[in-house]
Amino acid sequence: MATKFGLLLMGKLPKQQIRNYSSDTNKLVFRQLFDSVSSTYTYLLADPGTRECILIDPVLEHAKRDFQLTKDLNLNLVYAVNTHMHADHITGTGSLKLLSGCKSIISSRSGAQADIFVDEGDYITFGGHQLKVLSTPGHTSGCCSFYIAEQGMAFTGDALLIRGCGRTDFQEGSPELLYHSIHTKIFTLPDETLLYPAHDYKGQTVTSVDEEKRLNPRLTKTLEEFVHIMNNLNLSYPAQIDQALPANKVCGLYDVPEDLKNGL
Ligand code: FE
Repeated sequence: MATKFGLLLMGKLPKQQIRNYSSDTNKLVFRQLFDSVSSTYTYLLADPGTRECILIDPVLEHAKRDFQLTKDLNLNLVYAVNTHMHADHITGTGSLKLLSGCKSIISSRSGAQADIFVDEGDYITFGGHQLKVLSTPGHTSGCCSFYIAEQGMAFTGDALLIRGCGRTDFQEGSPELLYHSIHTKIFTLPDETLLYPAHDYKGQTVTSVDEEKRLNPRLTKTLEEFVHIMNNLNLSYPAQIDQALPANKVCGLYDVPEDLKNGL
């Protein structure tokens, strides 16, 4: 345990943590939450045995909602995790730290502050469960996906979306790198793996490795065709990017809403 805490104090997770829990890894509490403004999915994962839980990609405006859910379910929030430094919404991780005392986690290559930085091959542990960190850059240089093998689930952030993928025209985006990340880190997971993205704009909630390998209109193309598609999307400048990036560099605590401060 001394080693574990030593590493945590330095802001790094050990490559693999020893499970000291008697919980059943077949059991997972799982909730998919939604922000309709940015079409962002936030995921709650918990071990029903130890009651430890994590939140992936929480949104600032829903921090109190998400924290209340953890209380309703009698869960202890240990980590608030971001798949990457978002440009389309402000993260709720800083507010959740204030509300719950949890630690924030993000990639060491994200350019953002956090309590704990992760890289390829690290594990994020809650109760008896472990999320394996997969480095999947291309949308941003610090993008990560998280894989929980026992449940056959992966959280792909903005790397792979349902029948789509994250844009690559800002935040050090690279279509070549994104194509490589998806093909080598996500499409190599078992075909039946369920994939949960950070966003969906059409009301879809989940896909699978098999589906996306067969049906994704971008990723079924050659690298050259993919790069051409990504370089010609002509997307508009993200509406919230000028507010979101400075805030997300500091866990979203750049400008904490007054109602949240008053609720502490
Ligand atoms: Fe993004």
